Amino acid sequence: MKILVTGGAGFIGSHIVDALVERGHTVLVYDDLSSGKLTHLNSKATFIQANIQDSVALAKVFEEHDIDAIFHLAAQISVLRSMTQPTPDAETNIMATLSLLDLAAKHHVKKFIFSSTGGVMYGDTELRPTSESHPENPLSPYAITKLSIDKYLTFYREVHGMQTVSLRYGNVYGPRQNPHGEAGVVAIFLSKMFAHEEPLINGDGKQSRDYVYVSDIVEANMLALETDSASGVYNIGTGKETSVNQLFQALNTFFDNSFQEIHGEAKRGEQQASALDASRAHTELGWSPKVTFINGLKQTFESFQIQK
Ligand code: NAD
Repeated sequence: MKILVTGGAGFIGSHIVDALVERGHTVLVYDDLSSGKLTHLNSKATFIQANIQDSVALAKVFEEHDIDAIFHLAAQISVLRSMTQPTPDAETNIMATLSLLDLAAKHHVKKFIFSSTGGVMYGDTELRPTSESHPENPLSPYAITKLSIDKYLTFYREVHGMQTVSLRYGNVYGPRQNPHGEAGVVAIFLSKMFAHEEPLINGDGKQSRDYVYVSDIVEANMLALETDSASGVYNIGTGKETSVNQLFQALNTFFDNSFQEIHGEAKRGEQQASALDASRAHTELGWSPKVTFINGLKQTFESFQIQK
């Protein structure tokens, strides 16, 4: 198949590209390198460096290539930035995505697989692990854009007959994650620790997340592509909650427990807990997480060790 991956030079996207190339697909990567890196790029993929808001460059891709499927990952991913600048956030995450969906429909792309969020989709709830049937409660403009596209995907499926899938991820971690963003706490802590700096835990550190290793995320994307009946939204998470304190302690063991646990101010409005029920992905796609938290951390630690 000929497959377009937007954001294919980024953390998750580049791992998806590697898996697609490995499976023998022809891959086009569309990325403006705003946070992605050339070093992440698979040499067998064709690279187009452009912004997804560039409608001329985007249209050209569809004129020049007969695309069968799209993985859409390019996005404004900062929750914080979305809160202070909701308009540019929506321009990238909603408007540019709609242009992409329009082009995909016009050119009869068969499948569209979207990287959405589960971690900040349902808000704080007692019902954990949380399933897709739980009411959405996105608080940040970032999460609102993800939910909007999830809804638009239904429209493109029902009205245009495109097979659309939205994968709602928990907190993804693994090699190549950018340690300079505001999210990606595993990468942030590891990069601090390798620089011999104490990582700072926000608040009491009891806030919990559902951490999913990147190869499990790739597997979910491959299953979404390869399962003909895949359709609609799927949570992709382990169902397990890990607090920031537990994460810090686990990482600290790789450094012979040489770091102190230091706490800073709590982030105002931060979600306290999240864990995703991925039963639907298990039943309909045959997906389940394979990498344990400790093994995933170890592999991430080793990749950061090589980079330093
Ligand atoms: P990333 O920053 O590593 O990847 C995003 C990629 O998109 C980068 O290569 C960047 O250069 C590119 N990009 C950004 N804006 C662009 C634009 N306007 N035009 C073209 N390219 C652009 O981040 P990631 O963690 O790999 O996230 C990938 C996707 O997964 C995003 O849509 C994100 O919202 C989603 N997601 C990530 C997580 C997570 O825990 N990392 C969780 C849920 C959802």
